[in-house]
Amino acid sequence: MKTLLPTSTAGSLPKPSWLAQPEVLWSPWKLQDEELISGQQDALRVSLQEQQQAGIDIVSDGEQTRQHFVTTFIEHLSGVDFENRQTVKIRDRYEASVPTVVGPVSRTRPVFVEDARFLRQQTGQKIKWALPGPMTMVDTLYDDHYKSREKLAWEFAGILNQEAKELEAVGVDIIQFDEPAFNVFFDEVNAWGIKCLERAIEGLKCETAVHICYGYGIKANTDWKKTLGSEWRQYEEVFPKLQQSNIDMISLECHNSRVPIELLELIRGKKVMVGAIDVATDTIETPEEVADTLRKALQFVDADKLYPCTNCGMAPLSREVARGKLNALSAGADIVRRELSA
Ligand code: ZN
Repeated sequence: MKTLLPTSTAGSLPKPSWLAQPEVLWSPWKLQDEELISGQQDALRVSLQEQQQAGIDIVSDGEQTRQHFVTTFIEHLSGVDFENRQTVKIRDRYEASVPTVVGPVSRTRPVFVEDARFLRQQTGQKIKWALPGPMTMVDTLYDDHYKSREKLAWEFAGILNQEAKELEAVGVDIIQFDEPAFNVFFDEVNAWGIKCLERAIEGLKCETAVHICYGYGIKANTDWKKTLGSEWRQYEEVFPKLQQSNIDMISLECHNSRVPIELLELIRGKKVMVGAIDVATDTIETPEEVADTLRKALQFVDADKLYPCTNCGMAPLSREVARGKLNALSAGADIVRRELSA
């Protein structure tokens, strides 16, 4: 029987302390070479087991093999020089030193395909795999070759399509593209961002998702959120076109955010991964709080299309807090399931 309100996470989960320093974003690996690969596989097993113990229905690798959700992917491409760094403003928000695009970009080898195959071997549950979205990739680089955000995004979309097809072939059920940049560059999203995403999913038979959030709970993001006023209406700018797109699911932030819940009406018909867990605080939600967020979302999302989820990745949290939040998500979803089937 099909599970009602299947739970999942936006993507990343904390890493064990023997693999990388916990509670630090983008923290360097503690192992190298062969030891790193087997360490990452062990971490993936642990992360999977924690999701299973919490009763999460759609599981992931917890992003145990990547340091950064965009950069790790780009490291596997040619045409990008990681020695040649420039300072750019990411998502119009904070400055960072980033690699430079110096020539035509291409995928010289599969990026996550072996990791996905490994995850597939560990479980018969539905698995979701996250990839960076084309626009967010462009926004994390300095482009000295194409000199056009749109052109570079189209190139990345083609590369992501190659990777996505191989992920599908090893048994990934849902491929998710992380596009936090969709919450910032509305004109570009509507002009070419969504089209690039459709190029990235071309020909796929598995389900596809886009994750649009307000970011990890890091200072640059929490400071930015303070400037957004009492209502966060960013989704309103991109939802109408996303509703018309071929993307199956939309993953978004709800709990503790100032997103007016009625904006969900704009994507009626899509499957929605409703963020019912705040990743910017160590406070663990109660199951009743989770249930409350889900009940609100149910006013605008049909029950068979609602997927309880986290607002964003949980990599920067302690493992204990992340575990508590996964348990709360499951328990909260369970409350609403019982109400729906009563
Ligand atoms: Zn996110």
